[in-house]
Amino acid sequence: MLKLESVQISYGAIQAVRDVSLEIRGGEIVTIIGANGAGKSTLLKGVAGLEPVQGGRVTFDGRDITQVPAHQRVGLGLALSPEGRGVFADQTVYDNLVLGAYLRRRDPAAVAEGVERGYRLFPRLRERRDQLAGTLSGGEQQMLAMARALMSEPRLLCLDEPSLGLAPLIVQDIFTAICKLRDDGLTIVLVEQMANQALGVADRAYVLETGRITLSGSGAELLRDPSVRAAYLGAH
Ligand code: ATP
Repeated sequence: MLKLESVQISYGAIQAVRDVSLEIRGGEIVTIIGANGAGKSTLLKGVAGLEPVQGGRVTFDGRDITQVPAHQRVGLGLALSPEGRGVFADQTVYDNLVLGAYLRRRDPAAVAEGVERGYRLFPRLRERRDQLAGTLSGGEQQMLAMARALMSEPRLLCLDEPSLGLAPLIVQDIFTAICKLRDDGLTIVLVEQMANQALGVADRAYVLETGRITLSGSGAELLRDPSVRAAYLGAH
């Protein structure tokens, strides 16, 4: 579904992503793990069209999208739930969801259906539909960011560190939702530092180190890998 070939992304002299090639197949959860600054967020931004790709190629459903602007990628079925969530703090939960459907704003029935789907996935959002997003807890904001990304009805959802800064019980809710979405047929790219849980739900995974893929395999294989255990799972 998504293919990256020798992708390079730089910020001035800093090469954040170097020669990354990877493939995401339909219906998979693929996890990308890596330390702080490894280039994970930059890679997702390159996929979403939010950072220009200076070298290599990004293909989505067989179509070269390397130069396609971000909003058109949303229209093609690619959505990003960004790190730090990026919800509109002074808008209600409901309004945040509706804003996520800006490409379908002329189809109120589809928008209402999308909002309902978001509330079914995260019932807490229904309870808090009229609350300003800025006053939600961190976990609730993460749920809102995911539900908002889903409003564009993506076929591929990119999640940038959805568990960041959240209490274990909320992290569990988020991972349960991720698995439910995959079971409903959505393809998911999951960038995480919570390697244990992320590898646990991943069909396949890649390790990113200073902008390069250094290891790949099934989630189970990487969970067993001694170098992964030492570097990302705190095991010795
Ligand atoms: P984290 O887990 O800490 O979010 P990450 O793996 O997502 O890290 P990135 O945020 O992609 O890493 O950063 C990769 C490298 O690119 C880092 O060295 C970072 O300082 C640099 N970088 C990221 N964004 C910018 C920017 N807008 N301008 C300049 N350098 C940047």
